[in-house]
Amino acid sequence: MCQLYRILCLAGLVFAAAAMPFQAAAAQPVATGVRIGVHPSATRFVIDLSAAVEYRIFTLSDPYRVVIDLPEISWRLPPGAPASGVGLIAAYRYGLFKPGTSRVVLDVKGPVAVASAFVLPPAEGRQYRLVLDLKAVSRDEFERLARAGLPPPPSVADRPEPEPPAAARRLDDRRVVVIDPGHGGVDPGAVGASGIPEKDITLAIARDLKKEMEATGRYKVVLTRDRDIFVRLRKRIAIARAAGAELFISLHADSIGNPAVRGASVYTLSEKASDKEAALLAKKENKVDIIAGIDLSNELSEVTGILIDLAQRETMNDSVLFASMLVVDLLREINLLQKSHRFAGFAVLKAPDVPSVLFELGYLSNRKEEQQLRSPHHRAKIIAAVLRAADRYFAETDRLRRS
Ligand SMILES: [Zn+2]
Repeated sequence: MCQLYRILCLAGLVFAAAAMPFQAAAAQPVATGVRIGVHPSATRFVIDLSAAVEYRIFTLSDPYRVVIDLPEISWRLPPGAPASGVGLIAAYRYGLFKPGTSRVVLDVKGPVAVASAFVLPPAEGRQYRLVLDLKAVSRDEFERLARAGLPPPPSVADRPEPEPPAAARRLDDRRVVVIDPGHGGVDPGAVGASGIPEKDITLAIARDLKKEMEATGRYKVVLTRDRDIFVRLRKRIAIARAAGAELFISLHADSIGNPAVRGASVYTLSEKASDKEAALLAKKENKVDIIAGIDLSNELSEVTGILIDLAQRETMNDSVLFASMLVVDLLREINLLQKSHRFAGFAVLKAPDVPSVLFELGYLSNRKEEQQLRSPHHRAKIIAAVLRAADRYFAETDRLRRS
């Protein structure tokens, strides 16, 4: 299956910047609103902006998406869930894609063409507006347009990641733990009952965890992201290996259809999932590159299969040891799912030499659990459990290696 793209335009609309003094021009453009309008011949997508910006638009297939890349934008949209399912647009999301680039990804209901795209200057009480008109086309037309388009300029995200350096040696007695706040930037992850995105919950808990673990003097904690930015799964693994991680904990919080389901769970890597729910969850968590509007056509996708090599076996034993300890320590503090330790093919757990677990903190689709995950008291319990499990894990692996 090939991915198709089409560069629509690379517009140098810098007249606003040129007219302003340097300081104002250097400020980040602000997005204050997003609207979708349905017209007989097109679906119109509009972003209200404080300044004219350069933009790049391309389309992707499998699934069909329209991607708009902008300079780094400060998003100040009115609160409330964004409209979705309007016209040709099934859903959209926005956020930081990489330093300097904000991205909007539109999930479209079928093959579309970008009929026009332009920036309107302020008028009639409105600010600058980036306007995009989409029209439905056949698959053949979509492919024809893609062939006529230019190849996309290389972006940092599309380039293969360089091999990470071999694990760094520890410089002191502190154990190196990498905490991975799931999702980020243009990939919000699950959305909570009251609208809070998973990416905010995972980042807040990761920061607290770093602070508390480092305060003991026993740990050096590296975060895979410390801001609201998209990071690819393979990059997260590379960060862990480059840091010389001795333990990798990926934080997530799921959302499902049944609002009554609640409880935390811990996952380790396996080729074969322990049950259907675990397999579905892994599939969902592995999809983030598609969500962030990345072209996967020239890559061997980690999403399609998880193969585990021999070198990973010992690492996997250690992962299972930590997961079982974490479950025991969590049980004393918070609600857990019934089968609290499960297995599935999570791509982010694939570092061959770093024991890794994926910790689902709870269900954002459950109102009570969402509230708890936002409360400092509940977070403190989770952090205490992780810290105790890490202490016990390193004591045990040291003992095993000595004996
Ligand atoms: Zn997640």
